[in-house]
Amino acid sequence: MKNLARTAVLRSGVLRMIRGLRGRGAAILMYHSVTEDPRCQDIFLGGIIHSRSAFRGQMELLARQYRPTSLEQVRRFVRGESDIPDGAVVVTFDDGYVDNYEIAAPILNEVGIPATFYVIVGCVEQGKLPWVARLRFIFRTTKKVRWADSSGKVWPLSSEVERDKAYLFSCDACCKLAGLAQEKYVACLEDELDARVPVESGALMLNYDQVRELTRQGHIVGSHTMTHPNMAHVSLEEASFEMTESKKRLERQLEAAVTHFSYPCPALSPHWTEQTVAASRDAGYETAVTTDGGLARKGENPLSLNRIRPTKTVEGLRWNLECAFARRTV
Ligand SMILES: [Zn+2]
Repeated sequence: MKNLARTAVLRSGVLRMIRGLRGRGAAILMYHSVTEDPRCQDIFLGGIIHSRSAFRGQMELLARQYRPTSLEQVRRFVRGESDIPDGAVVVTFDDGYVDNYEIAAPILNEVGIPATFYVIVGCVEQGKLPWVARLRFIFRTTKKVRWADSSGKVWPLSSEVERDKAYLFSCDACCKLAGLAQEKYVACLEDELDARVPVESGALMLNYDQVRELTRQGHIVGSHTMTHPNMAHVSLEEASFEMTESKKRLERQLEAAVTHFSYPCPALSPHWTEQTVAASRDAGYETAVTTDGGLARKGENPLSLNRIRPTKTVEGLRWNLECAFARRTV
């Protein structure tokens, strides 16, 4: 019923009419992982995976009915330096999974959409899954039936619901940690719950050769920090280090300037502040994307751009985009 109603609204042209009155904006879409069968990696990555067929359908929709645009064009647009086409969309990926190179990029290249890939530099260099995925795996697979957190509170782990609660609690704690402190927290949990991601899971991340190849194919590579903390919940020194060090290492590998940044958004809110925006400017970034929903509009700060989470179906994406361009909440 809901789908029928949506189709009727889309066909009526009402949203397009409102869009014409609202002024232009760019829809920056946020993807993570694209695999043949999302169920296979669900135990690591949870619900952030698109199937290859859904992703292909969505990219074909963008190429056919919208105007794929670059981040640089969006930067100039929000600063009022130039306009963007009606229906402007930007495709971005967070985290740096190897499927971005193996599955998503060939589809993007085929339909002619240049994308931006934000990589977690520590994960690329060490061939390790992001901590969020490691914690998910630990809590989903441990044989232990309870876990005591650092305050002594005991979390039962008998049912899926109980495991999820304990997992979310541990994410709230771990997202405030960066670098070695974060690694220590994850390693402690691995020991306590006697569960750890298999070594082969590191092969799920991009390596530097693949990152370089993505830029050779015409895509942009940006930073998604060194170790994926919540930048609003670590010290400003740690946040600045995450930004500058990841930029420096990527630039050394790519032999080119890296000027685009993406804020990780694990667990707590907010995930960026005015201070982190200033730090990103000091670090030399020209754009930064958040996970706050909505279009990028003229006059906004290019260092805190909104994005849109693409649903998992082609029609769902079309609905998301039409609502966003008509400035409705989706
Ligand atoms: Zn991320």
